Amino acid sequence: MTEKLYLKDSYLKETYAKIINKDGSEITVDIDIFYPEGGGQPADSGKVLYKEEEYSVKDIKKDGKDIVLVLDREIAANEADEIKEILDWEKRYAHMKLHTAIHIIDGVLERDYNSSLITGNQIYDDRARIDISMDGLTKELASEIIEKANTIISEGHEVNVKFLTKEEAANKNLVRTQPGRELMNTLDIVRVIEISGLDEQMDGGTHVKNTNEVGHITLERFENKGKQNKRLYLKLN
Ligand SMILES: [Zn+2]
Repeated sequence: MTEKLYLKDSYLKETYAKIINKDGSEITVDIDIFYPEGGGQPADSGKVLYKEEEYSVKDIKKDGKDIVLVLDREIAANEADEIKEILDWEKRYAHMKLHTAIHIIDGVLERDYNSSLITGNQIYDDRARIDISMDGLTKELASEIIEKANTIISEGHEVNVKFLTKEEAANKNLVRTQPGRELMNTLDIVRVIEISGLDEQMDGGTHVKNTNEVGHITLERFENKGKQNKRLYLKLN
């Protein structure tokens, strides 16, 4: 099983790892810092080094409990050889800030507008989109929600990663959708992202350590997708 270091420390920019399986240009590693796509957050990119030779990481795939790095070409190394993983940090950090921004908005929706729900989200390198299902959501109300999120950002709330047992997790409101509840029931350990004083939820993504790292959220676009469903595009600056 690959040890997924990004789950514990999202600020790790490089690490040494061993190849545990090789299949052409794809290598399975024992330790991984690259995030594979999931939960609306895109996969990382970066480089692998072996004996001064540099390979770019084209994709990161999950294979059961293992992580497979897809390289730009076949690597000269073999099983049990040591490589170095180097993350494209600038891109990852942008994803982290946007992901935390979405959780802050979700926390504000839970706290102040309890009939609301984020039904989908997608993070890009320079912006994010969220779909919200909520009665009476107008562009003006969306701007008010974003301003409340910006207040949380400037207040500097700590963002913590916690690992809870199934029993500890069961007593908390950590998931808001039925598929989420079903997934949580299959886990022995539940990873939780806590924005102190605001929000706690089960999550597999990478986040900043303090809300003040997010910057300032701007509502770039507001789209009507139906009576209840609205789509918001967000930027950070
Ligand atoms: Zn998330």
